[in-house]
Amino acid sequence: YRFSRRPDIGDKIAVSFEFFPPKTDAMEAKLWETTMRLQPLAPSFVSVTYGAGGSTRERTARTVGRMVRDTRLRPAAHLTCVDATRDEVDEVIREFLGMGVTRFVALRGDPAEGVGARYRPHPGGYANAAELVAALREKGASDISVSAYPEKHPESPDFATDIDMLKRKVDSGATRAITQFFFDNDSYERYVERVRRAGIYVPIVPGILPVHNFTQVANFSARCGAHVPAWLAERFDGLHDDPQTHALVAAAVAAEQVLDLVERGITDFHFYTMNRADLVFAICHMIGIRSAEPLHEVKPAAA
Ligand code: FAD
Repeated sequence: YRFSRRPDIGDKIAVSFEFFPPKTDAMEAKLWETTMRLQPLAPSFVSVTYGAGGSTRERTARTVGRMVRDTRLRPAAHLTCVDATRDEVDEVIREFLGMGVTRFVALRGDPAEGVGARYRPHPGGYANAAELVAALREKGASDISVSAYPEKHPESPDFATDIDMLKRKVDSGATRAITQFFFDNDSYERYVERVRRAGIYVPIVPGILPVHNFTQVANFSARCGAHVPAWLAERFDGLHDDPQTHALVAAAVAAEQVLDLVERGITDFHFYTMNRADLVFAICHMIGIRSAEPLHEVKPAAA
């Protein structure tokens, strides 16, 4: 019954899409195909991640640059504090500002050894995401998103410490928080209540991860503190070798999650696309978002 009512609310919903910078020519072609398919959904912005330890600095810049040049999208550049001096980070910020990019997603990041290793700030670098936000603000960034963790970050001893860090980031100038992915909408709602009680009023945009590969998501979740409920595991049980059914179930699961959040009054959604369009496109369709241009007019931009 919920599905039949969704088209009339599509114009009240804002979506954003996250991509990662491609490593190979084939991955780049795939990203471009995805971008062109999703562009007509008129996202409020798209974002491009920054690899561990700044490892994708050039690729992130190249991908963002191409979006600026060849699309009508509004790209946001992710940036981390990992293994870089303030001067080095400032240079990256200037590079983006020089392209006309004023949207950023500011993060502390994870150690180059990977999630779970102990984080040590670079002695000459920005110590945390709050300092990075302040630097971005000072240099002219207009729209700064930061992370938020509905099930708390694995390094946070408790929710109070976690939310205190979010408050520091917002007090430094962040305009929006995007959450780590989650599957339990109640935990998101409880978290937003805690955040509001702490006097934080920026949008806490749910980060939605369509489950392209359940096994990978389950492994990754364990490392980044996102809980995989038993009912979710059950839905994907036995589908490892059945990609078609897996994709259909993934679309249904994500649509159900998003539609439930819509029922709870949420109007902004950030999608972790994994550089793939189909599931995200289908879910957006179900929440009433329609292509702003006829599909036959959508042509990939020249390389
Ligand atoms: P912060 O917000 O600074 O901290 C997160 C939490 O950890 C805080 O709530 C705080 O309580 C706790 N904490 C931090 N430091 C300490 C400490 N020393 N002691 C105790 N508790 C502490 N990673 C990338 O490498 N590239 C990306 O492009 C990227 N994009 C992301 C986008 C989103 C929307 C999200 C949610 C995450 C992203 N990440 C990315 C992952 C992120 O870098 C990691 O989760 C990292 O571990 C924390 O970075 P942060 O900015 O969230 O940290």
